Amino acid sequence: MRIAIDIDSTLHDYWEIFARLARKRFGVALAYEDQITYDIDRLRPEQVAALTAESHAAVHVLGATPYAGAVEVVRDWHEAGHFIHVTSHRAQDAHAATASWLDQIGLPHDELYCSFDKITRCTEIEIDVLIDDSPENILRAQEEGIVPATILHPWNRELCEEEGVICAADWAQLATKLAPVLGRPVARKP
Ligand SMILES: [Mg+2]
Repeated sequence: MRIAIDIDSTLHDYWEIFARLARKRFGVALAYEDQITYDIDRLRPEQVAALTAESHAAVHVLGATPYAGAVEVVRDWHEAGHFIHVTSHRAQDAHAATASWLDQIGLPHDELYCSFDKITRCTEIEIDVLIDDSPENILRAQEEGIVPATILHPWNRELCEEEGVICAADWAQLATKLAPVLGRPVARKP
């Protein structure tokens, strides 16, 4: 199968980086548990854009720690023959640092795509499953016949109650829940 995987809040704890930068740059405290929508209403759109750009500077990209089990699960999928497309809403100039980060953490992939038209690309290359925390991407994937899956966050909790959206608390649970979709059991390492 062909699997697309988002990076921020999917492969690593992005909120920690974003909230730290928001506090430092604008003096705004953003609590993870209070973030029940994808939009951040305590910041103006231009502030969100500035923080997003800053969060994708090489120093932050390369300093990210993957969620427990994420690399191992993706490695198993890749070894089982699944196509891995890593996709992130970040500017093209973040591509090199992002590629270095994927090498650094040892996450195997067939394609890395840094752009702002994620679903278009997923459709073009006939992705079967998209793992992405963004409610908009989850809904758009579903419209395109792509199976959406996500790590559970406050901003997608409501959507996780919808039929057909695969939600998991962590990567181990995600692997278990996606195993029937991927057509064969995911072999876990001891
Ligand atoms: Mg994300």
